[in-house]
Amino acid sequence: MAIKNTYLLGLMERVEKRNPGEPEFHQAVREVLESLEAVIEKHPEYVECGVIDSIVEPERIIKFRVPWVDDNGKVQINRGFRIQFNSAIGPYKGGLRFHPSVYEGIIKFLGFEQIFKNSLTGLPIGGGKGGSDFDPKGKSDGEVMRFCQSFMTELSKHIGADTDVPAGDIGVGGREIGYMYGQYKRLRNEFTGVLTGKGIPYGGSLARTQATGYGLCYFADEMLKDKGMSFEGKTVVISGSGNVAIYACEKATQLGAKVVALSDSNGYVYDSEGIDLGAVKQIKEVERKRIKEYINYRPNAKYTEGCGGIWTIPCDIALPCATQNEISAESAKALVANGVKAVAEGANMPSTPEAIEIFQSNKVLFGPAKAANAGGVATSALEMSQNSMRLSWTFEEVDEKLHGIMVNIYKNASAAAKEYGMEDNLVAGANIAGFIKVAEAMKAHGVV
Ligand code: NDP
Repeated sequence: MAIKNTYLLGLMERVEKRNPGEPEFHQAVREVLESLEAVIEKHPEYVECGVIDSIVEPERIIKFRVPWVDDNGKVQINRGFRIQFNSAIGPYKGGLRFHPSVYEGIIKFLGFEQIFKNSLTGLPIGGGKGGSDFDPKGKSDGEVMRFCQSFMTELSKHIGADTDVPAGDIGVGGREIGYMYGQYKRLRNEFTGVLTGKGIPYGGSLARTQATGYGLCYFADEMLKDKGMSFEGKTVVISGSGNVAIYACEKATQLGAKVVALSDSNGYVYDSEGIDLGAVKQIKEVERKRIKEYINYRPNAKYTEGCGGIWTIPCDIALPCATQNEISAESAKALVANGVKAVAEGANMPSTPEAIEIFQSNKVLFGPAKAANAGGVATSALEMSQNSMRLSWTFEEVDEKLHGIMVNIYKNASAAAKEYGMEDNLVAGANIAGFIKVAEAMKAHGVV
């Protein structure tokens, strides 16, 4: 799809000019504006009241220095970000990413996507995102703790349980959330649900760790069922071996599929007998080592250096769960040539626009990230509810709510696509369904 409407074309040009050198943000905005062509034909009032002009501009961008001392006593300086993108339907909500590739454009694209994703969950949460160019890889626990404390010392001035509630993302798991929560509590002398993804002993929700991966499979399962298919007996390839990938692998296996590959940024493993998740959890969650260690546990498995080649492995279902733009047009062509039936995005924006076009034109079922990976943030919102009520729900209660939310997201995205004349196009459907709720709230609030 390309933007044809003159107003939207002009807006896209202004976004590119105002945010130079931020291709990921441009890509995310372009995809949403493409989907909105049909909406503004029906609802010209969204253009007239300035909602679309406003929604592409963050409400607030916070950028700060993060000084910390490494194990050799040397001062290190990183850069921290928090983008509070849109609070029309609730407090800003979205993860923190610690990865050397982080810069303003990455946080902006993620924060923008988060607005629509959070709206799709049906829960009252606005869109935000943050992070740092700090690389936790290879750092000692002490170094990670000192970095997190310094990062939170500044961030604590801008967040709060009713204002902005960050969570984890790439490079930010339970360890990092724990250090940041401890520092927030110490600085503010309050015990509130200011972060989600917390440990169970101090206010975390059961099933939050599993939520994004499980939710991805619940969404994909619903998408498959709608077309008379299921995970049962299918071969699945999953990229990444972090939080999302591990729990997608667990749920896909529980649903009767065989997961044959996982990766990290160095390479991928192929195990024709099905991935041994116990070994992966030991390597990644306990030892914090590289995925190539897997062949020490499973000598029949094969390790290949370089992560892109994972998409040449024949599979029925592909679940990209590593990072943005990891599926190129070439990878998409390889997947289609090998007969892939469904692709559901666990990572944020893992397929390039060209790859999406290839999937859609070849009738591959395609679940976009905004819809398919919304289970993480939805369960974070459930963690916020439990914190506010000072109650804890059981694993089963949270998991059941998560399942219901993912089924609804599929149904709403699918219905919106149909209503606006783009049946089966879940990219458009998710963008439209997510947009309308936020646009209605913004319209009601007036020019603010
Ligand atoms: P983790 O840090 O736990 O794992 C990330 C995984 O992706 C690692 O295996 C990592 O490998 C790999 N990876 C990261 N960057 C690259 C890269 N540039 N090239 C190749 N591989 C890479 O992160 P999560 O599992 O939490 O996040 C994965 C994706 O899911 C991200 O896109 C995130 O935004 C998205 N997401 C996460 C949610 C959550 O709840 N955690 C919620 C919704 C979306 P290596 O160790 O080598 O870096």
